[in-house]
Amino acid sequence: MANDGIDLGRRGFLTGRRPSRPEAIRPPWSRAASVAAACTGCGTCVPACPQNIIVLDNDGRPALSFGAGECTFCGACAETCPEPVFDRSIAAFPHIAAIGADCFARRDIVCQSCGDACLETAIRFRPRLGGPALPEIASDRCNGCGACIAACPAQAIAVGARPSEAAHA
Ligand code: SF4
Ligand code: SF4
Ligand code: SF4
Repeated sequence: MANDGIDLGRRGFLTGRRPSRPEAIRPPWSRAASVAAACTGCGTCVPACPQNIIVLDNDGRPALSFGAGECTFCGACAETCPEPVFDRSIAAFPHIAAIGADCFARRDIVCQSCGDACLETAIRFRPRLGGPALPEIASDRCNGCGACIAACPAQAIAVGARPSEAAHA
């Protein structure tokens, strides 16, 4: 799977509406507001990530590239950051996975790669007549790790706001 770098818009890493400039996915336990307020752009978190999924966006601030892999919640980014960007007392991510119209199963091609990749068993496949079972995200189980995003051969998975955090996004 290709590393999408900081081209966060091409694969639709969006939260709901399509803004003119795509919103970056911030590292776990950080939010857009805390990054804007406290991140100096030092880049310390980038090499600290063992998954190599932290990149700097066009403003020199950290963003996640889930196309390169998933977050394991190891905490290295939060631990290494010298500024008050991270808050380990909040939920790691304000998002959950969202499956789009490009999903192979929705186009009658059998595929369950996302379900195989999800350690949280947050993706269930609903049987249907006349076509492959369709994946569905269980919002109460999805931790937003992004493993399914990297695994999807159709690049059909993005992130969407977690219902309980939508007001704080
Ligand atoms: S928690 Fe670990 S795997 Fe996740 S973004 Fe931070 S350093 Fe990378
Ligand atoms: S991996 Fe992608 S294409 Fe396959 S079922 Fe999941 S969302 Fe659809
Ligand atoms: S983001 Fe992680 S927990 Fe959520 S459905 Fe995808 S693989 Fe499962």
